[in-house]
This record gives sequence, C-alpha cells and structure tokens, in this order.
Amino acid sequence: MKYDIIIAGGGPAGSTCAEVLAKNDIDVLLFEKGNNNRYKTCAGGLMWHNELDFGSLPAEIIERNVEHLFLSGPTASVDLTTLGTSGKVGQLTYRNRFDCYLRELASKSGAHIETNTEVINISVHKDFVEVEVKSNSQIQKKYASAVVLAIGAQRTQLQQKLRMDRPADFEQAIIAEFSLPEQLIDERFGGGAYELYFNSEIAPHGYTWIFTKREGLSVGLCDKNVNINHFKDILAHHPIISKKLEGTNPIEFDGKHIWAAPIPDRIPEYLYRDRVILVGDAAGLSDRFTYEGIWHARSSGRSAAETLIKATKQNDYSSTFLQKYQIKCSKLLNTILNSQRMHHLVYHSGYMNLILDTLVEILQNPYFGNAIISNIQLLLEGFLAPGNGVASLGVQLQQKLIESLREKVDRSTIKKLNREIGFALALN
Ligand SMILES: Cc1cc2nc3c(=O)[nH]c(=O)nc-3n(C[C@H](O)[C@H](O)[C@H](O)COP(=O)(O)OP(=O)(O)OC[C@H]3O[C@@H](n4cnc5c(N)ncnc54)[C@H](O)[C@@H]3O)c2cc1C
Repeated sequence: MKYDIIIAGGGPAGSTCAEVLAKNDIDVLLFEKGNNNRYKTCAGGLMWHNELDFGSLPAEIIERNVEHLFLSGPTASVDLTTLGTSGKVGQLTYRNRFDCYLRELASKSGAHIETNTEVINISVHKDFVEVEVKSNSQIQKKYASAVVLAIGAQRTQLQQKLRMDRPADFEQAIIAEFSLPEQLIDERFGGGAYELYFNSEIAPHGYTWIFTKREGLSVGLCDKNVNINHFKDILAHHPIISKKLEGTNPIEFDGKHIWAAPIPDRIPEYLYRDRVILVGDAAGLSDRFTYEGIWHARSSGRSAAETLIKATKQNDYSSTFLQKYQIKCSKLLNTILNSQRMHHLVYHSGYMNLILDTLVEILQNPYFGNAIISNIQLLLEGFLAPGNGVASLGVQLQQKLIESLREKVDRSTIKKLNREIGFALALN
C-alpha cells in the first residue's frame, strides 16, 4: 500500500503534522521509534503561544499554570508575578503525557500511528519515497508520495543520506527530575513557576532553570557544553537553587534520573527537497535565547501539513512546490531571528552578567515588570526585535537598559556594548 505522507518521529512536530494532514483526508502514517509513553528530555514548559495558537489542553495534561516568572542574574533577581501583575506566561507538563496526547489527537483524526518502530532509511525516487523501518528486529519497507522528517535533534544519518543539511550547531542541555510535595512547592515557588538563573561563571552560553510540576521539579542546565559533575555541583551548592531543592527526591523516567540531549542552534539553508520536508528540531527551529522548541515544532508541523495538503491535491511534491513550506514558516523564522538578537547580546557580548543584572533591576521597577509580564513575548523573544506590535515598550526597555548601563560602566565598555545594543536600536 502507498500512503500520501509518511512521518518519521512522533514528537510535537510530527504529531501536529499528522493531525492536520489526517483531518484533511490525507492518508498519513507516522512512525515513532520510542514506546507510547517514552520520556523526552525536556522541561515541559509550554510557553504562552502554545495555548494561543493551538488551544487549551485537557486538565490532566497540565501540571500547573505558570504564575511566577523568576529571573535571576548573578547578584539581582526578580519575581515578576509577585509585583501584583497578571498575564498568562505559560503552562507546565510532562512530555511523556503531552506527546502521547498529541499522538492520540492525530490518531483520532485518522492518522495511522506505529510506535516502537524506527525509520532507518529513506530513499527518494522519481514518483515516490521508500521508507525502511525496523520494529522488533524486523525490517519492512513502506511507500508514500512524500516524507516528513520530525526526528528531533537526533544525530542520525537520515538527513545526510538524503543529502540534506542537518542543524549544524547545537546547544547541550541536561535535566534532572525530582519529586517534592505539592504544599512545599506552593510555599517555595508560589505555585507554577519558570525560574531562570543566569550567571556566566556557571553557564556562559545558557542558564540553569527550575520548572515546577504539581508534585515535582524539572531542574536543568543548558550551555554549549554541559558536564554532569558541574551540573551536580550547581544542584548541591548554588546559593538559591540548592535551598529550593532541599527535601526533594530524585525520580526516574525510563530508569534514569538525569538526562541530556542536544537542542539545535542553527537552521539549515533549505528545510525541504523533492518529496521531503524537515520540521521541528530536525529543522533547527528553536528559540535562540531560551531554547524553547515545542511551539516551534508544532508551528512548523502545521505549516508542513498545510503545504503537503496542497501538494497532494496537485500531485506536485517537487522542491519548487515544497519551498512554499519555508515561505509559510517566515513568521516562525522571524521569531527565531528576533531571539537571535537577544542571544547575541546575552551570550556573545562578553557582558552577560552585567546585562542580566541590569535587566533584572529594570524589571524590579513595577512599570517595566507589569508591562513585561503582560507582553511576555517581548522579553522572551527578545525586546531588541524591531517593528513588533509592542515595539514602543521594546524601545523604552532598550533605552532604559543603555541608560542604566551608562551609570555602571566606563565609556570604553559602553562603546563596546553600544555595538551590540546600538545594532538593534538602529533597526527600530
Ligand atoms: C533538556 C531540555 C529541556 C527542554 N525544555 C523545553 C521546554 O521547557 N519548553 C520547550 O518549548 N522546549 C524545550 N526543549 C526543546 C524541545 O524539547 C524540543 O524543541 C521539541 O521537543 C522539538 O520537538 P520535535 O517534535 O521536533 O522533536 P522531538 O520532541 O525530539 O521528537 C522527535 C521524535 O522522533 C522520534 N524519532 C527519532 N528518530 C526516529 C526515527 N529514526 N524513527 C522514528 N522515530 C524517531 C523520537 O523518539 C522522538 O519521539 C527542551 C529541550 C531539552 C533538551
């Protein structure tokens, strides 16, 4: 039997793509190499735009709503919600349940889903693709008009064999899962919380985080290179984090308490070729400041499906037709470009600690704190972005940052920083 579309990978990118395709009567088969409840190395933070763009999730998938965004520089910190603000920052989930739910949605819409089945080879022919899969040591061949690669940031040879670029650069992330009684989480964190800790001496190209679940904490570190002993040292000795972890017990998923995985840090030039589309992490689509990627995966999965619905109607899966997918992704790609500015300023200016402490001090001012928590995308996608809907607040924040930095550092440092900040200001 030949399917319209085969999808390799049942994470948020693959499942979203499968659901949209199936809802539009496209015959789609999705392969997921893990089991239906597999753990995905992820903190499970669903940033605000997930609900905005994909609707609410059932209560049993949501561990907590985020009520606190706690930002810490090396010496200053701010808890944005305690400033008496409201605003939906996001939600928290466990990825095994969330991903299972998304696959279920796809299945209910009519997609064929096969778990415990790994795609091991894909060959593109003139009129079809041949997909080789392995399940219980048995190898089978399946056929479709086109294939979607949604295999995450895995270092597999699939893209290479297809002569497609893989994301060439990666951030590394390490995560530990803990349990803590609900009441203690409420007391210590005020409920649902995203806590981000920046300090270049701990992570010069990333940050440490604590995300609260209902009765658990996901604690992690992302950086260009991560080391398990360094991570354990942070958990045991960081002046704030170690205290917040007091009384926790390690929990295991699939037999492991600490997990590590890469996050893409670069987008390949082409996200398509004849009969193939890349989505999600496999396409390098993640935020360059926070390294969130679930919304990016779902958005690209949906855009890929919309393109493939048209391709199926016209029976045209050529690269010329499929380039419409990359064009459809332009809003998403623009979001990533905006976060790249924040990435550059924080991780590459050489003044991460100064900038983060200064930013935190600015956010301690209720005017900026309130404004930012109500326009959270401005901070998380980069307030340095030009021309977005709340640009005037972005410009005010940029100006305030420069003004505050001027009070703290000498002229030559300001000159160097102006090269970073002025670059963004000039574009506004
Ligand atoms: C430690 C860590 C914490 C993170 N925290 C957050 C967060 O809080 N919020 C957020 O938004 N993002 C977070 N991210 C990023 C987020 O996890 C990814 O961006 C997101 O999962 C990408 O979705 P995806 O569907 O593209 O890939 P994945 O979620 O990786 O899914 C790919 C799927 O493909 C399967 N697969 C792989 N190879 C094959 C194959 N050959 N055949 C069949 N199946 C295959 C895998 O088993 C997997 O299920 C985090 C990442 C890490 C590493």
